[in-house]
This record gives sequence, structure tokens and C-alpha cells, in this order.
Amino acid sequence: MNFYTTILGSGAALPTGHRRCSAQVVNINGFKLLLDCAEGTQDRIRQHHLKLQSLGTVLISHLHGDHFFGLAPLLSTMHLCGRTEPMTIAAPKGAKEVIETTFALTGNHVDYEMNFIEMDFAEGIHRVFEGKRCTVDAFPILHSVPTYGFRITEVPRGGHPARVYAYCCDTAFSETIVPYIQGADLLCLECTFANELADLARERQHLTAGQAGTLARQACVRQLLLTHISARYHEPDQLLAQAAAEFPAAQVATDGQIVEIK
Ligand SMILES: [Zn+2]
Ligand SMILES: [Zn+2]
Repeated sequence: MNFYTTILGSGAALPTGHRRCSAQVVNINGFKLLLDCAEGTQDRIRQHHLKLQSLGTVLISHLHGDHFFGLAPLLSTMHLCGRTEPMTIAAPKGAKEVIETTFALTGNHVDYEMNFIEMDFAEGIHRVFEGKRCTVDAFPILHSVPTYGFRITEVPRGGHPARVYAYCCDTAFSETIVPYIQGADLLCLECTFANELADLARERQHLTAGQAGTLARQACVRQLLLTHISARYHEPDQLLAQAAAEFPAAQVATDGQIVEIK
């Protein structure tokens, strides 16, 4: 049974030639979830031959542009390509208004049903999607605007234990996150800054590499995938070393990479 994520963008807010902004397509035994949707995501979906119309659900962590500005054009293209299947979109409160206002003011529309699940809670873990292949639970993380992490759990078949993929992007360091990501088979965490820029990380509510490794260790996850890498780091060796000092099973994501949840 397949459970893997294709990284479409592993960079922070400023896209570069080799790291675009946040987006991933998670495949759970054939069912596809889009996880964040930065500008240009639809182009990268095509580039990686992931078939736009095969996306069943979109999960948006927060409404900062580097996670959300690609959604309106992606939904519009799906309409232009003849989509009739409904689309479920779990996103922070306000996303529905942004998309509907954008379409209304620009004279665009879609013929398929957009089913928005607007997240608006400050604590606890809440189920936002339940399908045949997976369930998705959302939980608040710590950032400058309301932001949510996701815990994607496969529906087990044939006696296999359910694998879990947890995603947190963007967040400041907080041990309140640990119970929500506990025991994940793969944890994808933002890692915007190196340890030397801890003050800047605190100010902008992001993680350093060492903090990302610490959260992975505290949550007893199996593997750690670092993403949302600041454009100032051309080579991520320093970030990897600092995270691995806390949690050895760490890797830095690259655009186009496929990472299996195992
Ligand atoms: Zn971001
Ligand atoms: Zn952000």
C-alpha cells in the first residue's frame, strides 16, 4: 500500500530558482490531498504529472500568501478543465470569503461544489476530513495568524497498522504541539532558520533547525522532514546538522522529492 508525499515547494516566503513556496501532494493508497497551495502550485502539479483533477481534498495551514495564493487559480483551472466532482477545502476561517470574493469581483466562477470546512479553534484536535483512505485531524500551532497543523492517518487495510503523517508549517516553538504530533511515522516541520538566528525565529514565529529536531525527539516520531527553508540558505547542510544533533533521522526536503511514510 502506498503512502507518500511529493514535495512541490520546500522554500519559505521568498521563492528561489530551486526552492518554491509551500505545497505538497500526499498520496494515500491512490487518494490525493493537496497540502498548502502557494503561487504556481498548479504548474508544479502538471510538471510532476500529478493530474490536477485527481486531487480530492485541499488542506491549507494558514492564509499567508506563501501557503494560499495559488488556490484561486488552481480552483479556476479545475473548472476550465471540466471538473464536476465536489472539492473539499479545509482552511482557516476567511479562506471561503477570499475565494468567493475573488471569483465574484473578477467575473470567474466554478460549476462544481466547493465544500469549505473553515477552521476556527484555539485548542484541541478536530477532525476536518474523513474518507475511505484516510482521516485528517487539525490542531492549532503558533504563528502570527491563525495556523493549523494536520495529522493524516491512513485507514488500515489487511491487518496493517495505520501510518501517520504529521505536518506543521508555519510555527514557533511550543511544547503544546507535541501531543498532536506524537508518534507520527513521518513529521514534516518547518525549519526556516539556523540556530544562530533564534531571536529572528522567535520574532517571526518560526522554528530554528535545533528546535525542529527537539520537537521531533520529544514527540518520538520515526522520521523528520524539514521544509520551509529560508532563501538565505543555498546549501542546507548547516540546518541538517543542527536538527540531526537533536534528532538523527532528519532530512531536508527538496523540490520534486518523493518521501514515503513508512
Ligand atoms: Zn510560510
Ligand atoms: Zn506564515
